[in-house]
Amino acid sequence: MKIETIRHSLSHIMATVVQEFYPGTKFGIGPAIENGFYYDFDLKMSLAPSDLQRIEKKMREIIKQNLEFRIKNLEVKEAEEMFKNQPYKLELIKDLEESGAKEVSTYQVGDFLDLCKGPHVKSTKEISIDSFKLVKIAGAYWRGSEKNKMLTRIYGLAFKTKKELEDYLKFQEEAEKRDHRTLGRVLELFSISEEIGPGLILWHPRGAIIREIVENFWKAEHKKRGYQYVYSPHIGKLDLWKKSGHWEFYRESLYSPIEIEGVQYLLKPMNCPFHLQVYKSKIRSYKDLPIKYCELGTVYRFEKAGTLHGLLRVRGFTQDDAHIFCSPDQINKEVEGVLDLACFMLNTFGFSNFEVELSVRDPKNKIKYLGSDKIWKKAENALEYSLKQKGLKYRRAEGEAVFYGPKIDIKLIDALGRGWQGLTIQVDFNLPEKFDLNYIDERGRKERVVMIHHAVLGSIERFIGNLLEHYAGALPLWLSPIQIWIIPIGSEHRKYANFVNEQLTTNNLRTQLRDERETVSKKIRGGEIQKIPYLLVVGDKEMKSKSVRVRERGKGDVGEMKLNKFFKKVILEIEKKK
Ligand SMILES: [Zn+2]
Ligand SMILES: [Zn+2]
Repeated sequence: MKIETIRHSLSHIMATVVQEFYPGTKFGIGPAIENGFYYDFDLKMSLAPSDLQRIEKKMREIIKQNLEFRIKNLEVKEAEEMFKNQPYKLELIKDLEESGAKEVSTYQVGDFLDLCKGPHVKSTKEISIDSFKLVKIAGAYWRGSEKNKMLTRIYGLAFKTKKELEDYLKFQEEAEKRDHRTLGRVLELFSISEEIGPGLILWHPRGAIIREIVENFWKAEHKKRGYQYVYSPHIGKLDLWKKSGHWEFYRESLYSPIEIEGVQYLLKPMNCPFHLQVYKSKIRSYKDLPIKYCELGTVYRFEKAGTLHGLLRVRGFTQDDAHIFCSPDQINKEVEGVLDLACFMLNTFGFSNFEVELSVRDPKNKIKYLGSDKIWKKAENALEYSLKQKGLKYRRAEGEAVFYGPKIDIKLIDALGRGWQGLTIQVDFNLPEKFDLNYIDERGRKERVVMIHHAVLGSIERFIGNLLEHYAGALPLWLSPIQIWIIPIGSEHRKYANFVNEQLTTNNLRTQLRDERETVSKKIRGGEIQKIPYLLVVGDKEMKSKSVRVRERGKGDVGEMKLNKFFKKVILEIEKKK
């Protein structure tokens, strides 16, 4: 039995109960969905969560009765008569009629007759009573259109076994605990203000510390590998975006032009056209190549309000963008270098599982791509060869390359096994063509340069959201905005606590002295909620021996330690970025 069939059958059973409990209900539709099912009802009253338990209980009783799902085909006219008090069903019947149907199928289970094409279980005994659960009540417009009436949607989860259901619920609970939006609020990292606008992130001081560390690390690693940092403006002439093709291809994601002195400008959705202008600012020789520019460039793209999600989906975000300008023969080495950089950085941040995809041309439809057969082969081989060199397992997706070049996408797999879009490396034959980007080769001839775009983290906003969820807010010491709290036991220990604090802060550790009038246990609890890596408690004993009592995050009290020894321990931990 297919799980979808069980899920959908459960929606009928739920409707059966709703019909019994709430006479006069009008029924919408009840499909199977990922992990479960729903049914839309036009109810005379609103439901409370306790109603779900009542409905669920009754559903179990019905299932135990081993009721059959009986199919009956009706002529359209008959069906219209049968469903005359069900306006939504009538609408569906009319649609079927218009598409040429003479007959429609109905299914009866218990006292509930539904218009449906199936399939269903033969009998309710095929459904296990403890592997489903009603979980949520939501409003949903009939047929998804806000012009229609808002119906009540009840969501249920359903799996083949009780164990699968429990595992899923546990996973959901864990995911909720890790929700970066909640963590962002509790840890005071960022906010989104209605007054400013949806999808626009305000980084609070602590969030800004994390961001600064991530960005500094990113910049340092790029510089080590020969990238040069550049800055570019936030707007550029509309004509630029027309020339680059963005205006034509990505118009839905772009904001309206801004008029300045009679000329139209656009908020930048990409950094590429700016970087290529830097390249183009003078004649380049083969000896200069590769030239590599990088920038943490903030871009603006339109996303519908309903799809915005904390840091993960926003309207303004900072791409960790880089562009390599090289000769076709250098693609190989450069892509390998990018993969090396990416693996190193992502591993350092604690991600070690990836899902890799190589998008190449559709070999049967070569004409729809820009650039010669020779250069495509070279680029595709280079990408594939580099993936093999790095020992990365990948999926080869034929026909999924964009028209202007092949690419590699890497998804990060987090602690819960969820995939997040991270790195992209894209070979581009289009922009060098459109903007006439060249270099002079060994024999003094003008040659077309190849452009490689890449972003290792994707966007700084999304990446920090991923980090927070991956670590459930308990960031490694080097990334923690506040690393250490110092907690004096009594007022007579304040002076020593202050001394410890100064010792640590003068060595660039991020600390807080918690000497307010509050019990030590309350402060410890507070530190745990704030996910502070180390809490140092100091009293008489510690004062006398120049030591601290250390509470380590996740481990609790790990004992007394000389201040010097503690200092060396944390410095080492920060250096190792563990
Ligand atoms: Zn059905
Ligand atoms: Zn680019």
